[in-house]
Amino acid sequence: MVERRDRRIAWLVAPLISFAFAPVAAAAPSQPAVCDAAAFGVAIDVGHTGTHYGALSAHGKGEFEFNRRLAQELVRKLRDNSFDRAEMVIQTDADLQKRARALSSRRPNLMLSLHHDSVQDKYLKTAELDGQIRTFTEGFHGYSIFVSRDNAYLDDSEKFAKLLGAELLAQHMSPTFHHVDQENRPIYDATGGVFFYDGLVVLRQTTAPAVLLESAVISNPEDEKKAEDPLFRDRLTGAITAAILKFCDIVTARSEPQATTGTVTKPAAPEEQGARK
Ligand SMILES: [Zn+2]
Repeated sequence: MVERRDRRIAWLVAPLISFAFAPVAAAAPSQPAVCDAAAFGVAIDVGHTGTHYGALSAHGKGEFEFNRRLAQELVRKLRDNSFDRAEMVIQTDADLQKRARALSSRRPNLMLSLHHDSVQDKYLKTAELDGQIRTFTEGFHGYSIFVSRDNAYLDDSEKFAKLLGAELLAQHMSPTFHHVDQENRPIYDATGGVFFYDGLVVLRQTTAPAVLLESAVISNPEDEKKAEDPLFRDRLTGAITAAILKFCDIVTARSEPQATTGTVTKPAAPEEQGARK
């Protein structure tokens, strides 16, 4: 569980305190808008497919399996926190345009694509690892968050990416900057580990705020061990859920300025949702 319930309790208590000490004629304090989690659509994209599995871990396991397991655990946690419209989206076709269309068709308020990372081939080495010859890296570890400046909901994509970075840092996770050095990805938020990846189809073409998380460098044996650790994944899915809740609060507050009801059913048009383009 994340902080949602504590905050609700605080809102129940705070008006009582202010009422007790307020002048008789004072207006009732307005309450902040609260995320309507049940109405907030979250599409969790499982990166890659069973046959086009993405990166290879230090112990020879395909990235897709890491992505799918993390997505299953994240969706379970989101639903436990009342995000009834949280949904895992798996593709069997490697066509990225189809993937973006499938994600957009759900009309989510947020799309998060889950991936596990590697490095450029020249930074991989082949050597014995736990008694077998493996290809792996030792020099790069940590998470990366990506957004596309060509996404129609860039402002919101950036907002969620920053919230996500802050929650991962709060869990003592650290970003990796190897995509800056190896692929010239521009930095958006150095502290939180947020970068631009403008051309990535799933970020550019999905018609919702869209963010991609590389949660660990699985070609690094130490990071792979973390990705296999249920306790690490529990912290990770907790951090992601906390960031989604805060983002949902922001979207709800903006769409419900009177904060009397909270109904968020679909993304607003780009001009309403803080997009630049
Ligand atoms: Zn990937």
